[in-house]
Amino acid sequence: MSDEYTQDEQNLPPPRFTIHIILDDFPIDVQIVGSAKRLRNALKSLREIGAVAPAAARQARTERIREAPICPYHGPMKESTKRPGTWYCSHKMGDGSYCKERA
Ligand SMILES: [Zn+2]
Repeated sequence: MSDEYTQDEQNLPPPRFTIHIILDDFPIDVQIVGSAKRLRNALKSLREIGAVAPAAARQARTERIREAPICPYHGPMKESTKRPGTWYCSHKMGDGSYCKERA
């Protein structure tokens, strides 16, 4: 008899866990049946192949946005689609002309 479980717990069906992960930007649901120890091992293996929790993926996206240069008048700039790596401010100044801030 295992000293990890009481008799009652052994009679229960194994617990089932569903984990939501992000792997290479794809959301994936992983089902794990078994003990919490098995869940921990599964999480460890998932991390080793580069899976992250959805909250962590969201955080990474937010940090990418924060890298945008800041216009002193309007806040974060937008990246140029024509010239990636260059940034412009898409807002207008008080007089109606486009903001000329660039980075
Ligand atoms: Zn601006």
